[in-house]
Amino acid sequence: MKTLVAKAGNVLIGSGHPIVVQTMCNTHTSDIEATVEQCRRMKEAGAEMIRITVPGLQDVSHIKEIKQRLRSEGIDTPIVADIHFSSATAIAVASVVEKVRINPGNFHKDHEKAKEQFARFIEVCKENGTAVRVGINHGSLGEYITNLYGNTPVGMAKAAMEWLDMCVENDFYNVVVSLKASNTLVMVEAYRLLYKMMQEKGLVFPLHVGVTEAGNGDSGRIKSCVGISTILSEGIGDTVRVSLTEDPVDEIPVARYLADRYDHKLNSSLTSIAIEGKKAVATYHSPSRERLIEDLSCDFGKRLLDRELDDIKVKGSYLSDEGVETEISEEFGEYLADELLQACRRRFYRPEYVACPGCGRTMYDLQGAFEAVKARTSHLKDVVIAVMGCIVNGPGEMADADWGYVGEGDHKVSIYKGKTPVLRHIPDTEAIDRLVELIEKED
Ligand code: SF4
Repeated sequence: MKTLVAKAGNVLIGSGHPIVVQTMCNTHTSDIEATVEQCRRMKEAGAEMIRITVPGLQDVSHIKEIKQRLRSEGIDTPIVADIHFSSATAIAVASVVEKVRINPGNFHKDHEKAKEQFARFIEVCKENGTAVRVGINHGSLGEYITNLYGNTPVGMAKAAMEWLDMCVENDFYNVVVSLKASNTLVMVEAYRLLYKMMQEKGLVFPLHVGVTEAGNGDSGRIKSCVGISTILSEGIGDTVRVSLTEDPVDEIPVARYLADRYDHKLNSSLTSIAIEGKKAVATYHSPSRERLIEDLSCDFGKRLLDRELDDIKVKGSYLSDEGVETEISEEFGEYLADELLQACRRRFYRPEYVACPGCGRTMYDLQGAFEAVKARTSHLKDVVIAVMGCIVNGPGEMADADWGYVGEGDHKVSIYKGKTPVLRHIPDTEAIDRLVELIEKED
């Protein structure tokens, strides 16, 4: 079996190279000053690759200028252009940046036309030494695949394999692949299936691993660590992005932790574990609250996801921000167990939130809206609520959410029930009230 290496600028991905930490700008790409400034902060925080959205052809010149500005300051971090639908934009930007992320199934509704555009795109990448990520997302699979396999992990893996096969046919191997979902079970199953399929073919492409639309705060970190660590702990995965609805710079320490842990550069702060039936009693002495959350999610996420364990009790202590040893109270231990079990989709004690991190397509205060939606809906149960940053991709990316709050910009919001818009273009001042009314009416 051959494991491949992708090369984006000076960064090597795959086949035993250290796990690469990456993140993505949430500034508008046309706002060159703000994007350059965010890239500087990302670089300083340890980002090894930076993704920037390129919504249309008009943004190709913007990303070119951003790259030039960064290089003139000595920042050589590879730039990844993020493309969703426009194959013309993918082809135009492929000679400008070190790597391009595409979802080729979305290049065109007609599958044959999508394939033609993909072949053209690959040629430009070959000529310019540009790496490619085939980025498949649960919720935005092409129609061709969903008709064949449904919106399933198998569909995701098959979609990826089809495009990887095309790369091989075109003698192009500078490729990374990802299969992201917000649902950790779907995401883990998809990566496992894809890895098996690649092994069976005898050619393993590097994997970009991430949980998409993970949300923010503790739950965003726990969900990300559960999904990503499950895959990395199986020796799969070469680059990671932790996707949080926060300042993207906040993603980097979590991604760095995951990379270091699975590159065997750090150990868990778990000091003892007792197993009672299928319940674990875990004792930690952690150097920080954040580290406690990361260690716990990585130590037990996979075992809970795979149903090796059913429950967990967390004890011990962590050092507070002031360096004071703080006991894990019964209440805090229960909260951690609830959050971890929810991230593993084993027990739902509050609504399940799906929220994209936002990007250059976001035209409103996504982080503020997400906090407000959470505050107003925390009493609800057995419901999945998505808060998405743009009307172009948000509805398609919500995957299995029951309800969606999609900001459109200009203080307008659309509310979705599943994939169907039920209220369009309503003022943002009343959107949360209307969403809560609709959900409660269904109860
Ligand atoms: S859904 Fe969110 S992350 Fe995806 S393109 Fe829209 S704003 Fe960007």
